[in-house]
Amino acid sequence: MTVLGIESTAHTCSIGIVGDRAEVLALAGDMYRPPKGGIHPREAANHHVELLPDLVERAMRDANISPKEIDGISFAQGPGLGPCLRAGATVARALALAWDRPLVPVNHCVSHIEIARALSGLDDPMLLYASGGNTQVIAYGRGRYRVLGETIDVGIGNFLDKLWIALGGTFPGGPQIEAEAKKGSELHPLPYSVHGMDVAFSGLLTASLALADRGIARADLAYSVETTAYAMLTEITERALAHRQMRHVVLGGGVACNERLRGMVRAMVEERGGTMFAPPRHLCVDNGAMIAWTGELARLSGLAVPIAASAVDPRQRTDQVLAPWRENGGASTTRTAVN
Ligand code: AMP
Ligand code: MG
Repeated sequence: MTVLGIESTAHTCSIGIVGDRAEVLALAGDMYRPPKGGIHPREAANHHVELLPDLVERAMRDANISPKEIDGISFAQGPGLGPCLRAGATVARALALAWDRPLVPVNHCVSHIEIARALSGLDDPMLLYASGGNTQVIAYGRGRYRVLGETIDVGIGNFLDKLWIALGGTFPGGPQIEAEAKKGSELHPLPYSVHGMDVAFSGLLTASLALADRGIARADLAYSVETTAYAMLTEITERALAHRQMRHVVLGGGVACNERLRGMVRAMVEERGGTMFAPPRHLCVDNGAMIAWTGELARLSGLAVPIAASAVDPRQRTDQVLAPWRENGGASTTRTAVN
């Protein structure tokens, strides 16, 4: 089986073609970078509309296959920015019609955990999903993925980006804050906002900007921000593991590329006798391969839909969609090599 997946929830548009057992046959993508400030949904959608047809062609060429060999078309149905989601869904519908193939909507957050599960070989890990717009701790339970903890205001990546832009920097802020933080060493106290298994970042943003106004070194500010924010994420992940009596953690999302966050979560998980797995960067960030792979799991579970039922859902919740392929214990997602 071979599935083509389309990711277009936010600034990334990407086409993935995935074969048996999550083997990535092709991955072609591009990221919208706002000239200044944050992401504007319509501008990002225009970028995707312009690029997606070429990306489809490039991915098909790279995979060296013809439409006849594609068994299904999947797309990210939500959550995400409405105009961006619609750009991807429109291309998915067009391909499903033109090639007469099943159309399979998938949840973006679920796809982060499914690709990590396939790559890690971990059957039932917890996902710490740390991206621009999303920050959630997710685990499977009774037919669906459940959100055990999450941000109650902005996503961790949006917080980092907002902070960096307010300090005069450019999007994306996360990697630049990481580079600064590596040069810092002095820890300044900042609000630590953990509420049970939820976190909040707006107080941290205000306090970080106030600290910057006091003229402390940029590197120490970045170091203090990373230490505080990533400790919060590590704590809620640990609490979720303890409550669910689980041991293994996979990471997903752009912020999960951060070495400090990886190190902190790994130390916590290993102390508890578990394994932490972070996918390689190109499969950790938003990508079409995770959408294709989850689309295949959903297709085999009979979750293809007619065009009329393929509307996007910008606010779709992780626990709103079914994951029937997990009911047999996840046997369909055995480990394989991924290029
Ligand atoms: P995503 O929303 O998953 O596409 O990821 C984009 C977000 O990840 C943006 O907010 C980036 O600032 C953030 N990001 C990317 N790389 C890193 C990094 N190395 N450290 C922290 N944040 C990062
Ligand atoms: Mg994502």
